[in-house]
Amino acid sequence: MVKVAKFGGSSVASAEQFKKVKNIVGLDDARRFVVVSAVGKANKEDNKVTDLLYLCYAHTKYNINFDNIFKMIEDKFIGIKEELGLNFDIEGELAKLKSEIGKGIDEEYLVSRGEYLTGLLMAEYLDYHFVDAKDLIFYNYQGEIDFPKTQKAFDKIVREYDRVLIPGFYGSLPNGEVKIMTRGGGDVSGAIIANIANAKVYENWTDVSGILMADPRIISNPHEIKVISYSELRELSYMGASVLHEEAIFPVRDKDIPIQIKNTNAPHVEGTIISDNKQIGDKQIVTGIAGKKDFSIITIKKHHMANEVGLIARTLKIFEDFNVSIEHIPSGIDSFSVVVETSNIRPFIYELVAKIKSVIKPDEINVTHDISLIATVGENMKNSKGLSGRLFKALGEAGVNIALISQTNDEINIIVGVHNSDYEKTINTIYQEFK
Ligand code: ASP
Repeated sequence: MVKVAKFGGSSVASAEQFKKVKNIVGLDDARRFVVVSAVGKANKEDNKVTDLLYLCYAHTKYNINFDNIFKMIEDKFIGIKEELGLNFDIEGELAKLKSEIGKGIDEEYLVSRGEYLTGLLMAEYLDYHFVDAKDLIFYNYQGEIDFPKTQKAFDKIVREYDRVLIPGFYGSLPNGEVKIMTRGGGDVSGAIIANIANAKVYENWTDVSGILMADPRIISNPHEIKVISYSELRELSYMGASVLHEEAIFPVRDKDIPIQIKNTNAPHVEGTIISDNKQIGDKQIVTGIAGKKDFSIITIKKHHMANEVGLIARTLKIFEDFNVSIEHIPSGIDSFSVVVETSNIRPFIYELVAKIKSVIKPDEINVTHDISLIATVGENMKNSKGLSGRLFKALGEAGVNIALISQTNDEINIIVGVHNSDYEKTINTIYQEFK
C-alpha cells in the first residue's frame, strides 16, 4: 500500500515541526512519497519563505537592496539545519542563489527555491531520496500537466528508489524552464503524485484538525466534518471556505483516491476525509455552511415576459459584453434577477443599467447592493424531506429577511441571499439548526 503525504508550510516551519514530520512519516511504512511546501510561518508574526522570495524579486526589479529580506530567509534555513544537525550545504546553496538574484533571475525559478531548499533539508533529515520537481512534474505549453511524461519519469524513479521526497509547487515546461503553480499549489503537486503513484490515500498534513462545518471566526468551535464529497468541497470552497487548493481535487478524483486532511500538531485526530465513496463513513444531512459578502441583485420586471422568447438570453449577453461573471439567476413569471459580485459591476453600474433599459425595455429595474450569499451544503439534503422548511423557519424565527433563494436540481446546496448585516446571524442560525 502506498500513501502520499504532503506537508504544508506551517508543518515545516521550524526544526520542531521537522521533528513532527519525521515522527509522522515513521509511524506508517506506507508513507513512501513525501511532498513539502516551503518553510512557512512558525507563528502569527512570522513570514513565509515564499512571500519573502516574492519580496526579494520585487526589490531587484526596482533596484532596491534586498539584503535584509534575504537574511531572513537564510536565518530560517540555516537555523533548521543547525538545530537538526544536518550536513547539507545550505549556506553554499543560499550564497549561490543570492548571487543569481543579483545578476537578474527568473521570478518563477526564484520563488520555487523555497520548496526546493526545504525539500533538500527534509530529504536528508528523513533519509528519503530527493527528486527535483522539475524532473518529475511536467507541463505542456498549454500550462497543463503532461501526465504520460510525468508517469514515465515517476516509474523510472520508483524502479530505483523506494522512498522519495519531492518539493511541491512547481514543475517544468518542455524547454526545461521552471513553472510554478498558483499560491498553495503544493496541494496540487501532492495530488498529482498521488495519482501517478496510484496511492491508497493522499494525506494532506496541515495545521488544523480537518475541515470545519462553518467559519470559526463566526461560530466558536464548530464541528469538524468527518467525510465530505469532492462536489461538496467544491461548493464550500467556492463560497469561501479555504482548506485545500481548488485544483487539488481533480487528479485524485479521477482515480477515486481519498484525500485525508490531517493535523501535523495532532496526528492522532482522524481529520476529514474527502471522498465520493459512500462506504467511508456516515455523513450528516448538512455537511457545511459557507458564505460570501458583497453581492448585488439586479431585478428586471416585465409584464408578459414569460411569452417573450430570448429576453433572458439578451440580458445575459449584456452582462457578457461587460465581462461580468454571473452567480445566480433566480426567476419568476414576470421577473427575473441576476446576482453578481458587486466589485465586478461597480466601475460601470450606471452604463450597465442604462444598456439593459435600452435593450430590454423592462417595466421596472431594481438594483440591491450589500447582499451576502450563504450556502448550506450537503448531498444528503435531497433525501431528507422538510429540510428547506426547517431552514427557512429557523431563519424566520431569527428575524432574518431573505432576499433570494436559489437551489439547483441536484439539491447539493441551498443558497440564501440576505443583507450583509445579517451575514453572521444567518450562518449562526443555520449552524445551530443543523449541527
Ligand atoms: N509555498 C507556496 C505558497 O506559499 C505553495 C504552497 O505552500 O503550497 O503558496
